[in-house]
Amino acid sequence: MTFTSGYGEVDTMFSRRLRRLTPYVPGEQPREGTYIKLNSNENPYPPCPGIQRYLAAADAGELRLYPDPVSNNLRRAIAGHYGIPADMVFVGNGSDEILSFAFYGFFDSFKGPLLFPEYTYSFYPVYCAFYDVDYRKVPLKPDFTVDLDGCIGLVETCGVIFPNPNAPTGIALTIEEIDGFLHRYPRDRVVVIDEAYIDFGGVSALSLLDRYPNLAVVHTFSKSRSLAGIRLGFAMSNPPVVRALTTVKDSFNSYPVNKLTQRIGEIALREDDYYRNVSRKIIKTRERFSSAAVSKGWEVLPSSANFVFMRKPGTTGRTIYEGLKSEGILVRHFGITGIDAFVRVTIGTDEEMDILLKAMGKKW
Ligand code: PMP
Repeated sequence: MTFTSGYGEVDTMFSRRLRRLTPYVPGEQPREGTYIKLNSNENPYPPCPGIQRYLAAADAGELRLYPDPVSNNLRRAIAGHYGIPADMVFVGNGSDEILSFAFYGFFDSFKGPLLFPEYTYSFYPVYCAFYDVDYRKVPLKPDFTVDLDGCIGLVETCGVIFPNPNAPTGIALTIEEIDGFLHRYPRDRVVVIDEAYIDFGGVSALSLLDRYPNLAVVHTFSKSRSLAGIRLGFAMSNPPVVRALTTVKDSFNSYPVNKLTQRIGEIALREDDYYRNVSRKIIKTRERFSSAAVSKGWEVLPSSANFVFMRKPGTTGRTIYEGLKSEGILVRHFGITGIDAFVRVTIGTDEEMDILLKAMGKKW
């Protein structure tokens, strides 16, 4: 819903820009009741043990001073982890903030519309409204995969953004498909690949950075590193693109990433083995859950993420969502034509998914 002040039809208190906005609606964050929460793609396992130890011993006195505005230690740690130079890394307050900076800094309608998949992360059109960027949605293929061929030669475009794996479908493109697309796409337009869910089975496009100066890959600590609560994301790209993002940041907020977050990010990278195990566990649970749902007559799209997109023929997504909510389980459905039969279910612990399977069996 767009903004209305409630002060009447014509009011001059607020900007015209504000009236154009239609905010993104995040997954429900219930304040009461004890739900099994499978609606925001959070990680069901805790962050690595070193973070708990760090927080237990943290010195509040440290918070007196501003954090490093460009998060140098953390950027060096990310660079070391992924085997790239630190001037190819940008960090932000969650990957949402980085995406927002990317929309501001790269996409400009005078060059043509921005392209993104028809069914994808629903924040993209919100940023388009925020920054006044025209866009065109590229239909998915009949099997719900992202159609990169559909992004070539259609019209003059100002850029492309897509998640890999896509959300909410969970389906990943191969690195060969992405390489083939980048090879044919103009080098003077930025392509952003939103790899929020890449650690659950996809292959990162990071290895393509040295061949494509116009590629930016965006990651988050929210999903595979169990740190949605600290708000930390990072982009990897070539130095001019990183400098562009830094210019946007410095024109908006010098210190978007706080001291604790910077430190916690470094610890998470050091304890990578812990997280690899957690991701492996989630993938195993996802595969077990998907097979069990299919054997109960559900259609489950092939997921490379920490969620699955599924439907039960003859039932609407809304009915499934409401039915499961009455059983104490929160999932997400999107009342959008074309995908309104589906629900998106985050992969929780084995115990949580067993409770869900039982509820599905009881209701449908
Ligand atoms: N990209 C996609 C595709 C997402 O689903 C999300 C999570 N809502 C984000 C980016 C943002 O993640 P965060 O801001 O927590 O890093």
